[in-house]
Amino acid sequence: MAILEDPLKKVLGDRTAEALSKTFGMKSVEDLLRHYPRRYVTRGELSDISQLIEGDEVTILAEVSAVKVRRANGRTILDVLVTDGSAKMSLTFFNQAWREKELRAGVKGMFAGKVGSFKGTRQLSHPDYQLIPDGDDVDNAVDEFAGKYLPVYPAGGKFPSWKIEQSVGIVLDSLDEIEDYLPREIADEFGYPTLREAFLAIHKPKSPEEADLARERLTFDEAMLLQLLLAQRRSELRSLAATPRKISTDGLVSIFEGKLPFKYTEGQIEINREIENDMQQPHPMHRLLQGEVGSGKTVIALRAMLSVIESGGQAALLAPTEVLAQQHFKTISKLLGDLAMAGTLEGSGEGTQVALLTGSLTNAAKKEALSRISNGEAGIVIGTHALLSEGVEFADLALVVVDEQHRFGVEQRDALRMKAKLPPHLLVMTATPIPRTVAMTIFGDLDVSTLRQLPSGRSAIKTHLIPVLEKPHYLDRAWQRITEEVAKGHQAYIVAPRITAPEVDETKAKITQADIDMARLMGDEISSEELNGEGMVSVEELAPKLATGALKGLKLAPLHGKQSSELKEATMSAFALKEIDVLVSTTVIEVGVDVPNASMMVIMDSDRFGVSQLHQLRGRVGRGSVPGLCLLVSSAPEASPAMERLNAVAGTLDGFELSRIDLDQRREGDVLGRAQSGTKSHLRLLRVLRDEDLIEKARGVALRIIADDPKLVGYPTLAHEVSLLKQEESSDFLDKG
Ligand code: ADP
Ligand code: MG
Repeated sequence: MAILEDPLKKVLGDRTAEALSKTFGMKSVEDLLRHYPRRYVTRGELSDISQLIEGDEVTILAEVSAVKVRRANGRTILDVLVTDGSAKMSLTFFNQAWREKELRAGVKGMFAGKVGSFKGTRQLSHPDYQLIPDGDDVDNAVDEFAGKYLPVYPAGGKFPSWKIEQSVGIVLDSLDEIEDYLPREIADEFGYPTLREAFLAIHKPKSPEEADLARERLTFDEAMLLQLLLAQRRSELRSLAATPRKISTDGLVSIFEGKLPFKYTEGQIEINREIENDMQQPHPMHRLLQGEVGSGKTVIALRAMLSVIESGGQAALLAPTEVLAQQHFKTISKLLGDLAMAGTLEGSGEGTQVALLTGSLTNAAKKEALSRISNGEAGIVIGTHALLSEGVEFADLALVVVDEQHRFGVEQRDALRMKAKLPPHLLVMTATPIPRTVAMTIFGDLDVSTLRQLPSGRSAIKTHLIPVLEKPHYLDRAWQRITEEVAKGHQAYIVAPRITAPEVDETKAKITQADIDMARLMGDEISSEELNGEGMVSVEELAPKLATGALKGLKLAPLHGKQSSELKEATMSAFALKEIDVLVSTTVIEVGVDVPNASMMVIMDSDRFGVSQLHQLRGRVGRGSVPGLCLLVSSAPEASPAMERLNAVAGTLDGFELSRIDLDQRREGDVLGRAQSGTKSHLRLLRVLRDEDLIEKARGVALRIIADDPKLVGYPTLAHEVSLLKQEESSDFLDKG
């Protein structure tokens, strides 16, 4: 008998085990059992052979009339001729000559499969079958066979679905008792089967309901393990000591607020309060602040930073790119005014200093910054990854603010945290709004604050579609519009999905949007290699073309990630200084660029971008008092899913709604990270949006368990499963979402 940890070869033999390992990376009995069916088919009522239509899934009751083995192209082919009295047809098996022994002439059986044709004759290739031994009640056998619910597995390489089914069957037959990590009382609470029952039912269900319940239990398991891991992490954080940071009534924060040129929005007030409360606790704050571009996160972060400076602490702001770090430095210095000039003649007496630390500083400048950081003069330190390097020492790091969480891993967060005496408070900011369950799943160890309101005085952004297939002349109109905007003294962005034109491989069939959409509908995905960006507009082609064509006379400049950082910098600042009218760019402008004078954006091949990404991109215009216009160019056909997606973007400015649409359409792997596609993954079934209810339920259970038993001492098997998940995710998904 086998247990879950047993190697597959113990049960299936070397050959099959090796093939499974090669094809799917499976090693253990559990790996195979967790290769769940994608769906099920029911073998229907019996059909007469004479009535069969090609393409139908059918079951026939027939008698073998002749069997022949032949060889073709190095394969053995077993041809079995069967008849049911109404007509004859052939069944074909490749490389399974051994079936000749049981499929003898005169034997009766039921055969199920999809009707194909070969040289004009209808046939079933590799049908499922069940033979009816002489003397058995045919009616009974038929009822049992034809009503059966058959699994369809994700197949691969040498492993068609039926072969996986066969291997799973062998494994299930030899499966020993297995220990269930899900505590019995929880399984009972939800009416779930045991783990063993669930494996049996998901692979060999007696009814659709049984399969559904098994799948629900296994999905719940995944959600619960994940929530346990996150709840454990929260509780570990809670048990750490941190220095409480209190705000005084007449300190830096109130002086700063007295000088602010605007009133906080209600959302800002509430979140300020939450953060203030968090940081007064004797354990580290661990908070995610989400809000759209321009919703006013920076001011909140700045207030939090000033509050730790009041008690002699320092704050670090970690930005994903050099450009963003510089922009933060400018914004924050400006907001602080003379409060940022402590120790200088212009200084207000009260205040602090802001230091910028990035990779491109000269050695002298770097040295100077490092010394102000280590002696504590710089209360606010803004930088990129350079902040994480060895030589950076803080006098008293009290707060770490991370901008755009998804670009930082936990290790990086930790590296910075190690620079503090006690664990610092942590505030993570993201402009990609995410639905609650996703936040719970991906950022489950963070408390979440959400800014839903934009400060008033913001101009609206209008978004329109340009379907170039149907209305090519609209594109000319778009270029004309840019010219008009520039004539009014404004500026524009043109965004393209590629940097350079791809080398076209003429031998390859061109993949159209229709292909992509079809694949998506079928639950498939066309790989990025296959896509290879064929036909997409590139910055390097478009910029010169427009400069000498439709936008002749305007000052255009290309901007993309392959340029040197000096060139990028120079281009950005020239754009900010209005020396450039139109920036032709890749998505490098997605984060950070803040030019209030830019009023228009044209996004080429916009169907190539995700919904949230488009929303982020267009957030670059309409930032000042000028209304923004965003044109989404696409050659997707009119009623395609791609166009629907673009219409959704054009139809709303609600980032939450859009991020839902986005997540709905993306494959989940993107949401939960790569780990999900790996065979070892513990997250195979869970879908963050579809399984919202299960996730909520699992979270409740996990919090309950961890509150009583944070180390899971009373649940050794459960603790083991959680530790496996932890190993998996440490390399991967949770923190890099
Ligand atoms: P985010 O960091 O969320 O993208 P910012 O904090 O940069 O947003 O705010 C965007 C702009 O709005 C900035 O110019 C900022 O000074 C301004 N702003 C922030 N809060 C308010 C407010 N309550 N009222 C008016 N303007 C505000
Ligand atoms: Mg900002």
